[in-house]
Amino acid sequence: MNTASTMISSDWRRRAEGLAIDGRAFMDGRRTTAKGARVRPTSSPIDGRVLAELAACGSDEVDQAVAAARRSFPAWSRLGAEKRKSVLLALARLMEEHSDELALLETLDSGKPILQTTTVDVPGAISTLRWYAEAADKQSGELPAVPSGATALVTREPMGVVAAIVPWNFPLEIAMWKLAPALASGNAVVLKPAEQTSLSVLRVADLAAEAGIPDGVLSVVTGTGREVGAALAHHMDVDALAFTGSTAVSRTLLEASGKSNLKRLSLEAGGKSSNLIFADTADLAAAAAKAAFGAFYNQGQVCSANSRILVQRSIHDEFAALLADAAAGYGAADPLAGLEGNGALISSAHTDDVERWILRGREEGEVLFGGERREIRGSDAYLEPTLLGGLSAAHEIHREEIFGPVAVLHPFDTEAEAIELANATDYGLAASVWTSDLSRAHRVAGELLAGTVSVNTVDALGNTTPFGGFKQSGFGRDLSLHAFDNYTAPKTTWIQFG
Ligand code: NAD
Repeated sequence: MNTASTMISSDWRRRAEGLAIDGRAFMDGRRTTAKGARVRPTSSPIDGRVLAELAACGSDEVDQAVAAARRSFPAWSRLGAEKRKSVLLALARLMEEHSDELALLETLDSGKPILQTTTVDVPGAISTLRWYAEAADKQSGELPAVPSGATALVTREPMGVVAAIVPWNFPLEIAMWKLAPALASGNAVVLKPAEQTSLSVLRVADLAAEAGIPDGVLSVVTGTGREVGAALAHHMDVDALAFTGSTAVSRTLLEASGKSNLKRLSLEAGGKSSNLIFADTADLAAAAAKAAFGAFYNQGQVCSANSRILVQRSIHDEFAALLADAAAGYGAADPLAGLEGNGALISSAHTDDVERWILRGREEGEVLFGGERREIRGSDAYLEPTLLGGLSAAHEIHREEIFGPVAVLHPFDTEAEAIELANATDYGLAASVWTSDLSRAHRVAGELLAGTVSVNTVDALGNTTPFGGFKQSGFGRDLSLHAFDNYTAPKTTWIQFG
C-alpha cells in the first residue's frame, strides 16, 4: 500500500469511527421510533460492527406513514411542477454538500468500496434527482382531435400515494430511480429500504425535510420485507408500488395487489444476462475489460450483471486469458482504503451462498480463475472474481442468478447458437454483443430478448434511457421519461361547447 492510499484509508476509517448514526424511521417530517421502541441492530459487512439500532417497523408504522402521505398529497400535487422542481433541486444541493457522509454511510452499510460510493453511487443518485427535477416542469398534455363542438384535454395525473421497495445492491441509486420521478410528478412516497442498507436513504430523508419537502410527502419506513414490505403491498390506500428486487418477491407483490386494491405495480426483478463475443470483435482486450466490469463490478451484485459470457470458439482461449488479466482489477480490497477493486459482499451469509455455487461449479465443471474467499480486517465477506467453465448451457449456474462475483464462460460456434443460448433463460433484463460487423450487431440485438442491449460495450445505462426487463425480469421502466408512466395516469377531460 502506498503512502497516499494509507492516508486515505486512515482518514475514512477515522471519519467512520466518529460518525453518529440515527437508525430511527422517518415519518411525517421527523425521525420516529417504532411502536414499543422495537429496534434491530444493523451491522457493517466490512467488520461486523453494529452501525445503528434500526427502527423495526411494522404495519402500525406503515399505516402512519401512508396516512401522512395521503394527507400531504393534495397540497404537494397542486403546488405545481415548477415549485416541486425547485424543492427537489434544493435537495440535490444538500445531498452534494453531504456527499462524503452519504458515501461513507453507503460503504459502511453495503461493503462497497469508498472509491465507488464517492464517484458513482452518490453522484449518480444526485444526477438522477436533478434530471427528474428538471424534467418536472417540461411535461405537457395532449389535445387530441375530437369531433367539432368539443375539445378534449389529456393530462398526466399523479397516482397519489406511492410505495417504493428497494434492494441492498445500490441502496441510494435505486431508491432515487423511484423517488425522483414519483416526487417530481406530484406523488407522496413511502419508501422501504432493504433492511441491510437503510442508512443512506434515512439521511436523505432528513435532508429532504431541510430542503423544504413538506411533512408526509416522503417517509422512510425501516423493517423487514415480511412486515413493512408486505404491509405496503397489501395496503388499501397505496395507489402504486414500485419495486426492485427478486422475481420471487415480485410474485408475492402481484398477488398482494390482486388481493387488495389493484394498486399499480412496476417490477424490476432479477436477471441472468449474457455477453456475446464474436470472433470479429475489433479489440478483444477492450471486450475482456468490459466483460470483467459486466460480471464482477459491485462484487457481482448487479441485477443486470453479464454473468454468462458466450465466446465464439475460435477466440475462446485467447479471450479467457485476457479476461483473467482484466478480472485482477476486481480483486477484494479493504473498502475504506480508497483503492481500486471490489469490496465486501452484503454479508457473510450471502458470501456462503455464493461460495456454494463456486463449489458446485468446481465439482461439476472447472474453476478457470478465482474461487478464493478472503478475510480482510476480520470479515470473511470477500470473494475473488471467479470464472467457471466446462458446464453445459442447461446447468443451473447458467440459469440462476448468483448475485456474486461469479461468471460462467461458454463457447459457441454460430450466430444462431449464440442467440439461442442467450435467450435460454426465464429472465430478459440485459445483454451485450461484441462484433465489428454492423449488420450482425443490428441482427443479433434485434433477436435478443432483453430490455437493454449494449453493443461493443457492456451494461450501458443513463438517466435518459429506460431501464427494465422482459419476461420474468418484470415490467415497467426506471429512468428516462418512461419512468413517469409508473407514477402517473392519463386523465381525459371532454369539454362540450357547441
Ligand atoms: P429481495 O427481493 O429479497 O428484496 C428486495 C426488497 O424487497 C427488500 O427491501 C426486502 O425487504 C423486500 N421484501 C422482501 N420480502 C418481501 C415481501 N414478502 N413483501 C414485500 N417486500 C419484501 O431482493 P434482494 O435480495 O434485496 O436483492 C437482490 C435481488 O434484487 C436480485 O434478484 C436482483 O436481481 C434484484 N435487483 C433487480 C434490479 C433491477 O433493476 N431489475 C436491480 C437491483 C436488484
